Amino acid sequence: MTQRMHRYDARTVDLVFDYMRERLQYDPVPLDHPGDGERLGAVLDGLLSAGGNDPAEVLKLYDHELSRAVISADSPRYLSFIPCAPTKAALLFDMVVSCASLQGISWLEAAGAIAAENQVLRLISDRAGLPESAGGCFVSGGSAGNLSALVVARDTARHRLGLGIGARLRIAVSDQTHSSVTNTLNIIGVEKLLVPTEDHRLTGAALRAALAADEDPGSVIAVVGTAGTTNAGIVDDLAGIAEVARESGLWFHVDGAYGGAGLFAPSVRAKYDGIEHADSFVVDPHKWLFAPFDCAALVYRDPRPAKAVHTQDASYLDVLHTGDHEREWNPTDYAYHLTRRARGLPLWFSLAVHGTDAYSEAVEAGIRLARDTAELIRAEYPHLEVVREPELSCLVYRRRGWQAEDYYAWSEQLLKDQVGFVTPTGWEGEVVSRFAFLHPGTTMEMVREILDTMA
Ligand SMILES: *Cc1c(COP(=O)(O)O)cnc(C)c1O
Repeated sequence: MTQRMHRYDARTVDLVFDYMRERLQYDPVPLDHPGDGERLGAVLDGLLSAGGNDPAEVLKLYDHELSRAVISADSPRYLSFIPCAPTKAALLFDMVVSCASLQGISWLEAAGAIAAENQVLRLISDRAGLPESAGGCFVSGGSAGNLSALVVARDTARHRLGLGIGARLRIAVSDQTHSSVTNTLNIIGVEKLLVPTEDHRLTGAALRAALAADEDPGSVIAVVGTAGTTNAGIVDDLAGIAEVARESGLWFHVDGAYGGAGLFAPSVRAKYDGIEHADSFVVDPHKWLFAPFDCAALVYRDPRPAKAVHTQDASYLDVLHTGDHEREWNPTDYAYHLTRRARGLPLWFSLAVHGTDAYSEAVEAGIRLARDTAELIRAEYPHLEVVREPELSCLVYRRRGWQAEDYYAWSEQLLKDQVGFVTPTGWEGEVVSRFAFLHPGTTMEMVREILDTMA
């Protein structure tokens, strides 16, 4: 009786597998709806009881109530924020990871899983042009990656400069840098040197000028370049920033959480020139490399300082660090985490099955959708206007004459009608509309259908 929960129960397995099979076959995946707190509260009321419930009933409640109150990020009509459209192979392998209880901390416990994850990190490092020495680990998201990398930047600078904990340190960022970096700086007690952008793009020249004009340039220890802003997909002048970083001895971190996937797209690869000089680099496969949540790749040019900063000293962990240091790799040593899911494996499986060409094609599909939509707006929608030429797969555009409330009302109706999930965004103080293309199954017919509602 005590083991009941851990015994194989064929009925529950069939129930859940049947549900998964059905979910995997949705084509297209429906958008579904925002939740109503009162209704959700009512259906959940009393569910967690001493005696439990029939799994069929609980699954039905999930299917009919809870899952309908989740907007599907893998719908081809989900064009807000950054969608998440995993390959079927990656989704399936996520289930394998889930039923195998892999502890992704250490080589001792999970060498097989870590070897495969590292193969993917190697592939990404190669695409970025990072040296053979590069390495890192998979973390939960871009925020976790930025935090882990900038802690290493901070501590190596402190060490190099012989500074104590209270010393003033700053990291150069732009006015377009992602909010997670601002969060990181708050967490790690480092100030910002805010560098103005030119057409929303951080350049080496602007960084150099900001440092030259600063009264305390010695306190600036790192710079963050963005390889694809989340709002408009703008890639900073990475080569220029790298040059200034080298001149001034700054740690060069590249936040490619969304746009890093463009390294796989030949049509835009040149925009990333200079990324090969990064000291650390983050890309979220759960964004534009078609992995399920939550999966971010964090790579260091030289992993040794990262290991020095992040290795946790707990006596029960000593055994993890007594092996062959050249060959053994403990992902836990390269970010602030300890326990971790082997979250790189779904991507590894999908890459191994489909090959990198399929990824290049799928990333290019998003870029093409953004370009074609810009063309379509110019050709056929005189009341709409492209705000900025798309560089990657995001497109910012406006409906002439609309105010903020028009966009919000339109967006809400669009979702209600299940035509699209397209939320307004801000652009230079104005509310405008934005598409984030990513799902290769999004069609120009869907785009037209959405644009037609903005008459
Ligand atoms: C999405 C994003 C992040 C944050 O990544 P999470 O995976 O959501 O934590 C950071 N930087 C950029 C540029 C992003 O697009």
